[in-house]
Amino acid sequence: TLTGKTAVVTGSTSGIGLAYARAFASAGANVVINGMGEPADIERERAKIESDFSVKAVHSPADMLKPAEIAEMIAFGEKTFGSVDVLVNNAGIQFVAPIEDFPIEKWDAIIAINLSSAFHGIRAVIPGMKKRGWGRIINTASAHSLVASPFKSAYVAAKHGIAGLTKTAALELATFKITVNCISPGYVWTPLVEKQIPDTMKARGLTKEQVINDVLLQAQPTKQFVTAEQVAALALYLCGDDASQITGANLSMDGGWTAA
Ligand code: NAD
Repeated sequence: TLTGKTAVVTGSTSGIGLAYARAFASAGANVVINGMGEPADIERERAKIESDFSVKAVHSPADMLKPAEIAEMIAFGEKTFGSVDVLVNNAGIQFVAPIEDFPIEKWDAIIAINLSSAFHGIRAVIPGMKKRGWGRIINTASAHSLVASPFKSAYVAAKHGIAGLTKTAALELATFKITVNCISPGYVWTPLVEKQIPDTMKARGLTKEQVINDVLLQAQPTKQFVTAEQVAALALYLCGDDASQITGANLSMDGGWTAA
């Protein structure tokens, strides 16, 4: 149980991040959600967490491109709830292009949001966790922290970087009852993925089943999507006492992708 504890989840206005926030709230944690979107949509999800789980939820608008705002987000959580006990670095974006055409500003943004933001968040959260003698830091990596795909240079570099940052932080914090792990999902069914299907059907003249199996899930042996709730359940497990000796791990949940 996470009753009395506080979780900060970056990029939790949709998809996997929102599932993490709801999972922690279901275990009794107060949550700081973060991310972009329509203010009315964010407020609806925030209020729904409070009413579904009888916890407190607040939104931090911190931009993961901006180190000072990331530090402010952690301070906001500590000020609002008294502590930040769980930090999930999850915000992420993607851009797909060959390296020689890859826009420099896209490279910089992906490295900043998908990798450096985790460094800034971990840096800000450590002093409080050390003081209280307990903490859980979880990073959303990806199958792309272990293997590459062409045309995703920045994303693959950032995700391999997250795996390295995870190991380093785990070693530094090992004697403080603070664990640091990353979760590496394969293809996860999020609104983002769902929305691509009709366009891909049209563009390639394929059925929905063909798009899912031959395009999206080509690399995933089970031919099934991971769900955001499954990823969140693993994160919740990592917060429990049974997981106190899991640290520095990169846990795959990818339908067999990286076994191939
Ligand atoms: P999503 O687009 O549904 O969610 C991304 C979240 O990040 C949103 O809340 C968005 O507002 C937020 N965000 C984006 N830029 C931000 C910024 N500058 N500052 C603050 N927040 C920002 O995507 P998702 O599929 O839920 O992805 C979440 C994480 O999971 C990412 O790190 C992604 O790389 C990773 N991941 C996703 C998949 C997948 O198939 N969907 C697979 C492996 C890993």
